[in-house]
Amino acid sequence: MRDVAGARLTTDDLTRRIEGWRGESVVVAREPETDTWMFIALHDTRMGPAVGGTRMKTYSTLGDGLLDALRLAEGMTYKWAGVGIPFGGGKAVLATRETLTGDRRHRVLERYGRLLGSLRGAFRTGVDLGTTPEDMKVVSDAAPYVMGILHGHSTDPGPFTALGVLAGIRAALQSRFGTDSLEGRSVLIQGVGDVGQPLAEMLADAGARLVMCDTDEDTAGAWADRLGGTVVAPADMAGADVDIYAPCAVGATVNPETVPLLRCHIVAGSANNQLATSEDADRLHERGILYAPDYIINAGGAIAFGRMQLGVTEGQQLRSEVEAIGDTLAEVFEEAAAAKESPVHAAQRRAERFLATRESGSA
Ligand code: NAD
Repeated sequence: MRDVAGARLTTDDLTRRIEGWRGESVVVAREPETDTWMFIALHDTRMGPAVGGTRMKTYSTLGDGLLDALRLAEGMTYKWAGVGIPFGGGKAVLATRETLTGDRRHRVLERYGRLLGSLRGAFRTGVDLGTTPEDMKVVSDAAPYVMGILHGHSTDPGPFTALGVLAGIRAALQSRFGTDSLEGRSVLIQGVGDVGQPLAEMLADAGARLVMCDTDEDTAGAWADRLGGTVVAPADMAGADVDIYAPCAVGATVNPETVPLLRCHIVAGSANNQLATSEDADRLHERGILYAPDYIINAGGAIAFGRMQLGVTEGQQLRSEVEAIGDTLAEVFEEAAAAKESPVHAAQRRAERFLATRESGSA
């Protein structure tokens, strides 16, 4: 069993982490034919029904899958609160024994849909790592609690998330350099996938110089050719000489080993849990690298889907709501600069202030 930074976890560590979770409940189910375990973690529903994505992944152990659900559900509480949307924090993990396709995948999604339906709206969901809009259509046929279904079709959150990241990058540039222009700025995109691809297109349109990095080097090369960028190998990512590092792949790429190597001025990307430990935020701050807290900058897909759930379907309005991530981050950067600290602390206080409005009955 491993933690987010890849270190091995003992059974005692696992127990401690479960005991340390301050959430509300976890619903567990199993699909017998594929031996897929399902964990739906509801972390905090003070603000409203829990809302979060559904991740499908093969873990080394079931404990890893459970911990992932707990950690990600907590992250969702702060994501909604950080951007001021009155939903609770929750997340679902479908821990598979192998990559599932065809009928076996369909069976798991149907079973998951029935589980979701049994919660009668206490948890609402959408795509996450390992699930697709097509998967969500199958789930939504079993339960009407899938977000991002617009006019009967399932929507891809990636482009909305990328739009939010772009707004966040501009806010970070403004805070760090006094101008939000991307003209001539170099941006390393690590992970050229569902978010990384539309982000690369938008950055190229805005005049940025792209450096592409992906474990799939053909994909990185193809996108670099298409948009006029260069490629860096994953092993050399941390030392790349760029203005902005945009992590858009896996978590924990900002860690005690990489922080001393980073040559960028800004870390701003879509990946969840970018910091291996909370101290890495302070390490970045000490090095003068501005960090855009992940759960705010990557909330674009969540905001768009949340607004769709609340009845907003007009494209331009959805885009404006997502772009407001830039304003939110500008406030976070300002508060952090005034306190001479990492923006993670200002973001955390902002989320807690929002959650406290429910406790005082004013939300
Ligand atoms: P994706 O699976 O579509 O793309 C990820 C890409 O990263 C793939 O091309 C993969 O080959 C590459 N990759 C994996 N490990 C890598 C590594 N170590 N170095 C370089 N490249 C690597 O995923 P996505 O939907 O684009 O999401 C990317 C990140 O953003 C994830 O952390 C996800 O949780 C987060 N996120 C995504 C959304 C969304 O709307 N899709 C929303 C919020 C957060």
